Amino acid sequence: DSQDYDREVKSVCPYCGVGCQISFKVKDNKIKYVEGINGPANEGRLCVKGRFGFDYIAHGHRLTKPLIRREDAPEKGLNVDPANLGTHFREATWDEALDFAAKGMRGRGKEIAGFGSAKCSNEEAYLFQKMIRQGFGHNNVDHCTRLCHASSVAALLENVGSGGVTASFNEIKNADAAIMIGCNPLENHPVAATYFKQFAKRGGKLIVMDPRGQGMKRYASHMLQFKPGADVSMLNGIMNVIVEEGLYDQQYIEAYTENWPAMKEHLKQFTPEKMAEICGIEAEVLRDVARTFASAKAGMIFWGMGVSQHIHGTDNSRCLISLALMTGHVGRPGTGLHPLRGQNNVQGASDAGLIPMFLPDYQPVSDDGVRSAFTDVWKSPDFSNQKGLTVVEIMDAIHAGDIKGMYILGENPAMSDPDVEHARHALAKLDHLVVQDIFLTETANYADVILPSSAWAEKTGTVTNTNRQVQMGRPVVSPPGDAREDWWIEVELAKRLGLDWGYTHPREVFAEMKLNMASLDNITWDRLEQSAVTYPSLSEDDPGQDIVFGDGFPRPEGRAKFTPASVIAPDERPDTEYPFVLITGRQLEHWHTGSMTRRASVLDAVEPEANCSMHPRTLRRMGIEAGDTIRLTTRRGSVRVMVRADRAVAEDNVFLPFAYVEAAANILTNPALDPFGKIPEFKYSAVRIEKD
Ligand code: SF4
Repeated sequence: DSQDYDREVKSVCPYCGVGCQISFKVKDNKIKYVEGINGPANEGRLCVKGRFGFDYIAHGHRLTKPLIRREDAPEKGLNVDPANLGTHFREATWDEALDFAAKGMRGRGKEIAGFGSAKCSNEEAYLFQKMIRQGFGHNNVDHCTRLCHASSVAALLENVGSGGVTASFNEIKNADAAIMIGCNPLENHPVAATYFKQFAKRGGKLIVMDPRGQGMKRYASHMLQFKPGADVSMLNGIMNVIVEEGLYDQQYIEAYTENWPAMKEHLKQFTPEKMAEICGIEAEVLRDVARTFASAKAGMIFWGMGVSQHIHGTDNSRCLISLALMTGHVGRPGTGLHPLRGQNNVQGASDAGLIPMFLPDYQPVSDDGVRSAFTDVWKSPDFSNQKGLTVVEIMDAIHAGDIKGMYILGENPAMSDPDVEHARHALAKLDHLVVQDIFLTETANYADVILPSSAWAEKTGTVTNTNRQVQMGRPVVSPPGDAREDWWIEVELAKRLGLDWGYTHPREVFAEMKLNMASLDNITWDRLEQSAVTYPSLSEDDPGQDIVFGDGFPRPEGRAKFTPASVIAPDERPDTEYPFVLITGRQLEHWHTGSMTRRASVLDAVEPEANCSMHPRTLRRMGIEAGDTIRLTTRRGSVRVMVRADRAVAEDNVFLPFAYVEAAANILTNPALDPFGKIPEFKYSAVRIEKD
């Protein structure tokens, strides 16, 4: 209604990787409401977060002035009441805060590390990794992909030669079978879930695999509620059937793959009967799933962090890739591999080089030619050819005294890291911590200087969603007080670090990115002003390729690779002291560490309280009632939290969302890492449960 607003601005949702396009309706520099518009991923649809989760932008806790820690401040830690900031920090001018931030970092080389953010734009991610590499000469730069899909990307790069999805999720419209494993799209990718539901309603075979039951079960032809951590055994059991019954696509395998004989031989030992004992799914069900997926004309595989966040996360993804390859379900309409990305720009931030082993476009830092292509453009000396440290490794390096200063932009490791007390102690130990954020996050509590930045709806920049669609984000309202756009803060800080950065607008950064990122060929800022473009785009008129690898893979001889995976048990197993299994994750209304959604009034009203879920039979057995407060304890720590009864959670399991600081799930989680993707095992910890 034109009565309700005086202007509208088209942009993108700030939450999940679906990348829904939104129209913000604005009156008097305030967002009144939003509507979904016809973006390529959402076609007008929005979920509850996109539709109602915007008023955090105007929350009274927004940081509006640069802040420097007072010399007489109490000890660093989670003790800063936003209403009482002045006890800990004093307000500063931008010049003073930036000079202070730069002074503590300048000339310290390997003692400095940086965490950028998947909540920032592609241009801001690119600038961040450039600052660490150009300014400090090494690659100790990472972001939340390490906690999200790093293992999926490791497996995709290894076996198909590219870390992105091979087909958009919307391609499911052309599929007749789909596997969804370790993901809960109704809660975490809700608009994508609407396409999945439509697929099932028109008769598509939806095979849901998840240790936790979930809403998509209602639409599933098969629901495999397997034992936590048993992914590889279940998938190897299914692939064994495909081999033994000759259901594989011999022609496709011969034309487009390598290492098939070794894979076939490897799979012989994983009979469905043997695997049923490990994964808890009957052999006949494994056979039926194998036949259903292999005989489909077109099949897709979707996965989430239930797959990736294990010490065998890379092996899990290797199995899924092998399953798609042996059935020929890649490169055609209705086929493909699709790890559903979490954050709105985790794909783009990774593409832009915000990772310690790769420069932009996943070009290895170890390659002399690659580094020199970048230093030519940057007009700067060479930097280290060694992979940098990853998120969890950086925390360990702080404890070891090797890292002494950090620049953290928009990430919240004091909530998101596994064994978070270990991370919090590390942050407290730093002698110089620069935090750039919109709120006084748990991480900002440990900062020496805080740089107040812009919310997504306050800045210009591009983002790339789970479908590889690059989209333009536009400023809808102005940042509050003295808060500034993140790219501007990065440029001003870089100048004070002695770098010759003269950018005056993100479009100049985007132009520089294109010089060494072939993925952006034919994609220009001007095109993005008009519409989304999917990479790769083959010409200036091509909206981009939704489906890739129809004619071979970006690997030697164009062949994808089968990499066999063996069964590896989770890092810790239940025992008499810690007899239950803890699984952590997200829930529909709250986003990651909660810094935005817990300050969004509608979302917070719907889910105001920390909660966990257990099966009613387990609760009864323990004399616990739904609504009681219970204590969860692992080898790392303990939290108190209200419990709900939920039949979807398997008996002797507990599910705990990680958005709540008052019952921070990551106090409990295990920091054991997958050796390839270096991702922690968030999805499996042994836990003790007691009535409080
Ligand atoms: Fe936003 Fe994701 Fe919901 Fe779309 S599905 S509105 S991108 S949170």
